[in-house]
Amino acid sequence: MAQELPPTYVCGRTPTPPVIDGKGEEAAWQTARELTPFRDIEGAAIPHHCRVKMLWDDTCLYILADMDEEHLWASRTEHDSIIYHDPDFEVFIDPDGDGLNYIELEINALNTTWDLFVTRPYHFNDPHILHDWEIKGLKHAVHLRGTLNTPGDTDAGWSVELAIPWSSITSHAHLPRTSKAPESGSCMRMNFSRVNWQVSPTAGGYTKLPCPESNHVWAPTGKINIHLPEHWGRVIFSPNPASEWEAAAPDLSHGAKLRLYETLHAQLEYRSKHGKFDTEAKLPSSVNGVFPTKDFFVLTTTCEKTGTCMRLDSEGLFSAIPAGQKQPELYLWVHGASERTPIEWLQRFTCYAEAGIDTVIIDGSIERITQLTRLAKMAGLRVFAWFWTLNRPGDTTALQHPDWYAVNALGKSCHAPQDRPFVEYYQFLCPSNKEVQQYMQEQVRQLAAIPGLDGIQLDYMRLPDVELPRGLWAAYGLNMSQVILAFDYCYCDKCKSAYEQQNNRNWKQFRTATVAQLFNALAAEVRRHGLTAACAVFPSPSMAARMVHQDWSQFHADLVLPMAYHSFYNETASWAADITRRAIQETNGRLPVAPGVHLPDMQPELLPQHLETLRAAGVQGIGLFSDDELTAEHLQQLRAWHHAQRMSRCPVDNAPSAK
Ligand SMILES: [Zn+2]
Repeated sequence: MAQELPPTYVCGRTPTPPVIDGKGEEAAWQTARELTPFRDIEGAAIPHHCRVKMLWDDTCLYILADMDEEHLWASRTEHDSIIYHDPDFEVFIDPDGDGLNYIELEINALNTTWDLFVTRPYHFNDPHILHDWEIKGLKHAVHLRGTLNTPGDTDAGWSVELAIPWSSITSHAHLPRTSKAPESGSCMRMNFSRVNWQVSPTAGGYTKLPCPESNHVWAPTGKINIHLPEHWGRVIFSPNPASEWEAAAPDLSHGAKLRLYETLHAQLEYRSKHGKFDTEAKLPSSVNGVFPTKDFFVLTTTCEKTGTCMRLDSEGLFSAIPAGQKQPELYLWVHGASERTPIEWLQRFTCYAEAGIDTVIIDGSIERITQLTRLAKMAGLRVFAWFWTLNRPGDTTALQHPDWYAVNALGKSCHAPQDRPFVEYYQFLCPSNKEVQQYMQEQVRQLAAIPGLDGIQLDYMRLPDVELPRGLWAAYGLNMSQVILAFDYCYCDKCKSAYEQQNNRNWKQFRTATVAQLFNALAAEVRRHGLTAACAVFPSPSMAARMVHQDWSQFHADLVLPMAYHSFYNETASWAADITRRAIQETNGRLPVAPGVHLPDMQPELLPQHLETLRAAGVQGIGLFSDDELTAEHLQQLRAWHHAQRMSRCPVDNAPSAK
């Protein structure tokens, strides 16, 4: 039972809304398919006595249920009274399938309704049930095939017809709260239940017998408890009329999903006995668990059949990202200009994680990165160390070696303050200097020893700008349409003599290759420690090679973070996606790319659209530069965007018209 796939229904679109009179006589109802037969809630087959169909359009979800019943009986006439104490029909809708925030509607043969909203199922310590919540604009009607509350005759049954406005369904999903009809092809989780009581005829009507009710449902939960939304059926909204029958692909990742729920239920049970979660529990080998605090955990798994990545936390929030639709990873550079206490950092990192940021790239000394890594890991983030490679401003070790520094075409070195290009902090070292290479390797080894670190981002793997981004020329009072010798590095003796010994001579290519070789050596060192080797780069390999001797198509990186900052190039925001596409082409899609967004140039309300545009360009992730410019409004937009990704879409096969 546990591993059985949930039933799936493809809901046809109706061109004309049915009249809600309980009868279901319209042509659209005639051609609509029935849901698969109801079963006992624990899974057993039962006689076929309840026929349910659905339709949808832009305004409403329509439900028609036709039930056989020998003794039509109902007593409750007060709205929002406990309807299931009568025989009833019940509807459950979890619009975004996250296992939280779902709608329940019960109706009896007197057409009395009880609608309620469940933010969290009952098995949590703190279920939150909104009893006074109303489905605004609900239309409901009952049609009797027999006589109500009249013993002495045999009735045929009753039917229920419902029109539930989308505005009351989708406005209460976790996110996005659209108030609109679902998109064609999207999926909601639903269940239907018919509660029946045994009655015996008495003088005035019927009397309920003192035996338990029967619970017959569309999607069995395996327990006498309907509030296990992980087992509910799938309803997929077809753009086609119900007469064009379609079959839906089954949800093959259901088994993997249930692995997460089994672990969650075991933990909830443990907590109800011991007052806390069991952080030492042995998890199934395919389930990863992170317990950042004793009160909260996150479980993840990947379905071996479909590649779908799934996540479930101790608050009951479930999300799934189908393989191939993986949400871009979000990276955030953390300067952390302002001083903060460890608690303030932890709060901040928790905010970042909650907004969907996956990885922080932390700047600073080894001590500082070590301390912040520990705090970021507690918030559930991944951490990259941010390592400045060839540009080493204020590096007291390097400054003792004047011969380590890059030299320009006029023979001036970056070592002397008065000779540095552009800005004081441009203190570039020479990439072909053996001592520089060893020094870099040693720095990488020290960073790699930081406990918990996930990767190292190598920054400034390049020479100074022969060509600054066009949007920055004015700020420096420069026209860089031609090479300016004072900004063309590295003409040091070591580089010149190494170049002389080469057969194929191209001075620019030689320097570009030297930078790439150093990167590849450092990246290999990073990987030797089991870490991700990432690199911040200019927007595309060809631009980077021309501007800063950085042809990153030659880089053996696990991840590149191109600075696709449109404002630096006097471009509009859409340029970022265009240049990213070109970069992916230039590297034949070999390198995972996570283009960066320069936050000072990004109005918060435009951020989600920008992220979508980048995602469509086929990126692995998206970088955000940087935490100092990340406003509360940015975070709010990120959070909404991140949660909107959870609306997973389900595949529908166009089946040849089925019998
Ligand atoms: Zn040199």
